[in-house]
Amino acid sequence: MELGMCGAASQCPPLSHREDLWVRGGRILDPEKLFFEERRVADEQRDCGGRILAPGFIDVQINGGFGIDFSQATEDVGAGVALVARRILSHGVTSFCPTLVTSPPEVYHKVLPQIPVKSGGPHGAGVLGVHLEGPFISREKRGAHPEAHLCSFEANAFQDVLATYGPLDNVRIVTLAPELGRSHEVIQALTAHGICVSLGHSVADLRAAEEAVRSGATFITHLFNAMLPFHHRDPGIVGLLTSDQLPPGRCIFYGMIADGMHTNPAALRIAHRAHPQGLVLVTDAVPALGLGNGRHTLGQQEVEVDGLTAYIAGTKTLCGSIAPMDVCVRHFLQATGCSVESALEAASLHPAQLLGLEKRKGTLDFGADADFVVLDDSLHVQATYISGELVWQAEEARQ
Ligand SMILES: [Zn+2]
Repeated sequence: MELGMCGAASQCPPLSHREDLWVRGGRILDPEKLFFEERRVADEQRDCGGRILAPGFIDVQINGGFGIDFSQATEDVGAGVALVARRILSHGVTSFCPTLVTSPPEVYHKVLPQIPVKSGGPHGAGVLGVHLEGPFISREKRGAHPEAHLCSFEANAFQDVLATYGPLDNVRIVTLAPELGRSHEVIQALTAHGICVSLGHSVADLRAAEEAVRSGATFITHLFNAMLPFHHRDPGIVGLLTSDQLPPGRCIFYGMIADGMHTNPAALRIAHRAHPQGLVLVTDAVPALGLGNGRHTLGQQEVEVDGLTAYIAGTKTLCGSIAPMDVCVRHFLQATGCSVESALEAASLHPAQLLGLEKRKGTLDFGADADFVVLDDSLHVQATYISGELVWQAEEARQ
């Protein structure tokens, strides 16, 4: 298909330094080449009315939403993933990593084969592969992960990992605690399989964290949450943001839940100012995402949703994040005072770089997949496109 977008805003120059965007066959085209080669540009032209054009958002940590829990071993996991994939289009998410929390081996064996990597389209955001958070994590920093199913690496290290998860074909990210014995072997083996290793739910000190990075780890799972707090004599995993002991040229990325609840705005600013290029916005959303205010039954428990918070019903215990990605982008922008461009890159370019997809996703460069969002000045999503195809549009944008 061909699509011309004219008059796209220039509020965020490196992302939309062109006034328009030409798409064919799902890819972004170089319009000059197109002009000279074909003497013709596009069949269809749309005026974006001065709105912001940005790469589609990528969520590398999302546990479910709209009542769906990816960690539930049902017969029809695929239908649940498809529902979430469709609903997150309205939040500008064009691809994601469904995330499983610590589970017994039989859950991984049943669920993982049901979540293949899949291209996005009108049916929903693309699946880039699964993020497995646990079970190889710290008992002390397990957070909401069930203690009974936590594991350490035993004598066979990587073989034990395979026995726990089953085949890793659909796996993109594994979060583990690097202080567990034999973690280096496992990190090296996972990395050799092309899987991104993330450090989290951990009591590792900085030295252990640096060693894990030298073994191949490239990501930190929800910085500040479920790790040792920053201490000036041993800053722990947080210290990786400014470490001088990382392999030359290596960029460490870190996930942040910018929902206004899980991370204080001052902490967001500290992380962003220390290492802006590594910041990856994640929702870490739970099944209560998108359910609306009121009481809902989720698995074994009742939850009460009130605005952007989800409580265990009848208590003030928070049970996970329910802010969608576009809300996180807006909150992050407002909390850090960063540029619009930086806020958008934290939800698009950086997660793409983390996964080694920056040539295809998270960018509006020529040749990239035409996954993009159209936003108004306050960064509310007006329309979402995947491979150049309109897959979602706001009510007001339709008129
Ligand atoms: Zn977590």
